[in-house]
Amino acid sequence: MKEIYDLIIIGAGPAGMTSSIYASRANMSVLMLEKKYPGGQMLSTADIENYTGYEEISGPDLSEKMFEHSKKFGTEFAFGEISSVEIEENNIKVLNAGDKQYKAKSVIIATGTEAKLLGIPGEQEFASRGVSYCAVCDGAFFRNKEVVVIGGGDSAIEEAIYLSNIVNKVTIVHRRDELRAQKILQERAFQKSNIEFVWDSIPVEIKGERTVNSIIVKNVKTEETKEIVTNGVFIYIGMNPQTEIFKDLGILDNFGYIPTDEHLATKLPGVFVAGDARQKEIRQIVTAANDGAIAAQSAYKYCELSI
Ligand SMILES: Cc1cc2nc3c(=O)[nH]c(=O)nc-3n(C[C@H](O)[C@H](O)[C@H](O)COP(=O)(O)OP(=O)(O)OC[C@H]3O[C@@H](n4cnc5c(N)ncnc54)[C@H](O)[C@@H]3O)c2cc1C
Repeated sequence: MKEIYDLIIIGAGPAGMTSSIYASRANMSVLMLEKKYPGGQMLSTADIENYTGYEEISGPDLSEKMFEHSKKFGTEFAFGEISSVEIEENNIKVLNAGDKQYKAKSVIIATGTEAKLLGIPGEQEFASRGVSYCAVCDGAFFRNKEVVVIGGGDSAIEEAIYLSNIVNKVTIVHRRDELRAQKILQERAFQKSNIEFVWDSIPVEIKGERTVNSIIVKNVKTEETKEIVTNGVFIYIGMNPQTEIFKDLGILDNFGYIPTDEHLATKLPGVFVAGDARQKEIRQIVTAANDGAIAAQSAYKYCELSI
């Protein structure tokens, strides 16, 4: 463990792991910290078909490959949840994680996003007992059963298709009368005989006893409610940035994302952002990796100039 690293990367998703490769190959001393498992959101993604070089790969497999690669050039890795960041007068960044403290000349924030909650009765009560945010983690528990998927974007449709290969029936509940997902995903979903759609509807309550038995949905046009009998509810209604801990640094926008310039620098010298936590248009693995490369190069230049 170094006293002061050139760079500390917070988060080991595709953005953090790519930063690690670029920074350690440039001979920087690098520490990458992760609060859960290396991979980030990729760990809850069944099939990835749009990361260059892999026509099809599972999220956990790509996570493992990236993690092995990220350590190849000397990055140190440690488990740890950063709870706050302070900046000393000499511009050294001090990162607090439980009773541990880490110091670095530069920091890359690669903390990504996490699933939004529905906030309806039954959601918390049945979490891990029928309510899930991760088909690849929990899908197998519903083999030959019926599930409901909430949402109409890429993640919802991708994961509904994955689930349709395991369960008997998938019902997609979407608040509009058309999907937001890419056309290729929509076509695949429409072709599946065991995927049904409930349009213009929002979930209002998840019911059950020990585990989920049904979900109540309300039609937003007619206001009618109906009960759908189901064994599981998979929720994909969007993401929130994991940036609360940086609030006191004054670098967040109104939605909690972090604006940067084209070098992925924040307004604080030596603090960079890569991946989904950044204010940007397209949040994907390939764009997170792209950010990781740029942020690492910017951190390298910053350290060179500040010596
Ligand atoms: C269900 C689903 C399916 C998807 N499918 C695809 C797809 O097919 N193709 C595609 O390109 N993209 C897909 N995506 C999007 C893609 O996964 C994300 O854009 C990408 O993972 C973002 O990478 P990231 O490194 O910015 O953040 P993340 O992957 O979110 O990783 C951030 C990491 O930081 C860690 N972290 C957060 N806070 C702290 C802290 N305080 N201290 C330490 N560590 C912390 C987290 O635990 C996490 O591991 C999908 C996403 C989901 C949810």
